[in-house]
Amino acid sequence: IQQNQFFLHYQTKVSCDTNEVIGFEALIRWEHPEYGIISPADFIPIMESSSLIINVGEWVLSETCRQLANWRQQGLPAVPVAVNISGRHLHDESLVPFVKQITQQYDISSDLLEIEITEGVLTGDTEQSIAALQALKATHIRLSIDDFGTGYSSLSYLKRFPIDILKIDRSFISECDSNQEDAAICTAIITLAKNLGLQIVAEGVETAEQLAFLKQHECDIYQGFYFSKPLDSEVVATLLG
Ligand code: C2E
Ligand code: MG
Ligand code: MG
Repeated sequence: IQQNQFFLHYQTKVSCDTNEVIGFEALIRWEHPEYGIISPADFIPIMESSSLIINVGEWVLSETCRQLANWRQQGLPAVPVAVNISGRHLHDESLVPFVKQITQQYDISSDLLEIEITEGVLTGDTEQSIAALQALKATHIRLSIDDFGTGYSSLSYLKRFPIDILKIDRSFISECDSNQEDAAICTAIITLAKNLGLQIVAEGVETAEQLAFLKQHECDIYQGFYFSKPLDSEVVATLLG
């Protein structure tokens, strides 16, 4: 892969309670010299069919740590950043040593790094997933399940995953304020997360009405275009400064 064609955008994670920015999610962008900017939704699934996805994941982890160190150098307040890691990379034995090495190299405290795993990858061999998550958790970084509610993961396994955060999938948020079924699913997921002692994040919040619904039902954190589109690192620096 041509590393100079990749860059990261950062989307804010905002407290439903205080409206403060409490962290970011790193989202990869590919700027192809001929085709322009290609969405990760188009190239990540293709790369997941080969070990290229591990190169991509390592690049995203190291670029995120480098950026965290750079913001620190600028005297900006420290905020956690979440990185998306694919299932193939989660199950690769190189991931845990790489996370240890890269956080050490940039002197990044483990509570500033979070890894998001899509729920769908945890539904196959669950015992193997639990073991992989446990090994990762031993590095003390925070773990979250992304796109929750779409992957049919068994609730009995949910309590065995060493996770910190659940992210409600965008498909339930888009009509949470107007559709009874979506509202019921969202409130059920929020209650489930709270009772399991997990933080709960709503993704894809686009309107004031959706946010009002989430605040009323005591969701912890939200992300979405309503607050901000994913931003480049310089805009993040001005936001933090
Ligand atoms: P995701 O992790 O669930 O990321 C959220 C996606 O929703 C992002 O799209 C984000 O730009 C978009 N989004 C955020 N707020 C809103 C909103 O209010 N409305 C709408 N309609 N969309 C919103 P993006 O950046 O295109 O990423 C798509 C997916 O690609 C991600 O879903 C993630 O699964 C994957 N991805 C992105 N970056 C990486 C990466 O570095 N590594 C891996 N393995 N996967 C990545
Ligand atoms: Mg994500
Ligand atoms: Mg998601």
